[in-house]
Amino acid sequence: MEKLKQRILQDGRALDGGILKVDSFLNHQLDPNLMMEIARNFAVRLADKPINKIVTIEASGIAPAVMLGYVMQLPVVFVKKKAPLTMENMLVREVFSFTKNRVYTVSISQDFLTENDHVVFIDDFLANGNAARGIIDLCAQSGSTIEAMGFVIEKGFQKGGDALRAEGYDVVSLAIIDSLENNEIKFRE
Ligand code: 5GP
Repeated sequence: MEKLKQRILQDGRALDGGILKVDSFLNHQLDPNLMMEIARNFAVRLADKPINKIVTIEASGIAPAVMLGYVMQLPVVFVKKKAPLTMENMLVREVFSFTKNRVYTVSISQDFLTENDHVVFIDDFLANGNAARGIIDLCAQSGSTIEAMGFVIEKGFQKGGDALRAEGYDVVSLAIIDSLENNEIKFRE
């Protein structure tokens, strides 16, 4: 998505350790117009899938996910990053966070994810795929089907995307970054 790439070049900062900071439009301040275009792009790429639910993970996946929910007129449910107070009706799983370097217990209610659901998982970034693995497991626990996964930014130099595609998942990434070396942002052609 050309407009997204331009915005990443304009506002993004490549930090040491392979981290891209995009706090001015995606991870802290949000640009609703760009977010709506992101959602429209996802909607076009996902048009042939029998999706009836959008699943994301708090916090930064929620903005693109809810915009996509509006465009596709589908419910959006976000996986919580805190351990549930009661385990009743909750599906749980541990996920390692790349940016925070710690393990979270993520959870989702079985009221909102069932065997009738055909899911697209939406998130801000795809790096090593740990968040995606967590969602795959929660969907398996609930009996729901993953139809596709959509990421605003994929860091192609980390291995999450390649591994998920090799396993047959339909991974849609709107901008794929191949290198952040020397603090320079390089996209995949
Ligand atoms: P993964 O689970 O695929 O290893 O990493 C994806 C998650 O880590 C995303 O939900 C995102 O919040 C965070 N993340 C990974 N890499 C980056 C990055 O370069 N910049 C930012 N802002 N978040 C990242």
